[in-house]
Amino acid sequence: MAILVTGGAGYIGSHTVILLKEMGQDIIIFDNLSNASKEAILRVERIVGESIPFVQGDIRNKDDLSSVFEQYDIDAVIHFAGLKAVGESVSKPLKYYDNNIVGTITLCEVMAKYQCKSIVFSSSATVYGDPETTPIKEDFPTSATNPYGRSKLFIEEILRDIYVSDTSWKIVLLRYFNPVGAHPSGTIGEDPLGLPNNLMPYIAQTAVGKLKTLNIFGDDYDTMDGTGVRDYIHVMDLAMGHVKAIEKIAQFTEVMTINLGTGNGYSVLEMVKNFEKASGKKVPYTIVPRRAGDIATCYADPSYAKEILDWEAKKDVYTMCKDSWRWQSNNPNGYKEDV
Ligand code: NAD
Ligand code: UDP
Repeated sequence: MAILVTGGAGYIGSHTVILLKEMGQDIIIFDNLSNASKEAILRVERIVGESIPFVQGDIRNKDDLSSVFEQYDIDAVIHFAGLKAVGESVSKPLKYYDNNIVGTITLCEVMAKYQCKSIVFSSSATVYGDPETTPIKEDFPTSATNPYGRSKLFIEEILRDIYVSDTSWKIVLLRYFNPVGAHPSGTIGEDPLGLPNNLMPYIAQTAVGKLKTLNIFGDDYDTMDGTGVRDYIHVMDLAMGHVKAIEKIAQFTEVMTINLGTGNGYSVLEMVKNFEKASGKKVPYTIVPRRAGDIATCYADPSYAKEILDWEAKKDVYTMCKDSWRWQSNNPNGYKEDV
């Protein structure tokens, strides 16, 4: 019995594979390497001390997927594979709908063919749109303001429809808040292509001197210091949420929708201060106008995850910054040897 991890070479997938291996699970990584490198897998193998089967393939390709199900006895899938750049999704919506939605449909078709009906899906807090209040609970209304967010919402609905049609499916929708940090070894971490979209890699690359200054998108929000507030969660805590979901998936008798966050909100300026403390480096910043589509405040009510998965985030913001800095300072060019 094995677990197929789609997108397992990526940021969250690679960290999750480590914990799954440490729990003694057999893993197959399936990734088309569109936003990842083989080096990440080699480093994961180094951390866990054994080789991990890797199939380079695309979730939109039935043959690629079928060959994996033919070769291995897979009893659950953790489905990370997807494109995630919000801005790019606005300019290339069809690319996002094709990759994320068509990819997930194809994956589910192949799973059904091989009688593998357990799936943990990477959803996002973006499906809450601009919430009226915080903390955010799972039953809050959902909406999306861009094709990336809509792809997550549509996939959630598609998976719910699959369950309605066949209740032997076991489906867990994990809504992540803001994953940051890196494995404590400092050998794997987030390696964005080009200019980072997200705050933490941008701060880290500024601290290491690759970028000149952090642009802070607005200081006139209705928050403690005017900058945006988010629920940053350490990627190792997030990874553990997947381990718990997989451990409990067989017990679930309905589609489970679960927030994975810490329940704490931090502002951009607080994150900058924490990062400076953790790294001992200055992070120069400039206040610039708000980024289109951004909301003021977003943080989770994580109590359902505690109740259902017996999971809660343990690592604090200082540790997130420390681990992110270790990865960034040891690997200023990410997985690439040279720039
Ligand atoms: P990532 O880009 O590092 O990982 C995704 C992986 O999927 C990459 O390795 C990529 O090569 C692979 N992939 C993409 N399309 C594929 C395809 N068609 N076939 C096979 N492999 C494919 O991103 P991540 O941050 O690790 O995110 C993992 C999942 O979590 C994504 O679905 C993302 O939307 C979701 N998510 C991420 C965040 C975040 O802030 N990082 C927040 C909420 C949800
Ligand atoms: N942010 C910023 N500068 C950046 C990137 C992000 O000021 O270069 C802010 C952004 O406005 C938000 C917070 O940092 O308030 C987190 O942004 P990110 O893109 O990481 O996550 P998301 O907005 O998707 O929750």
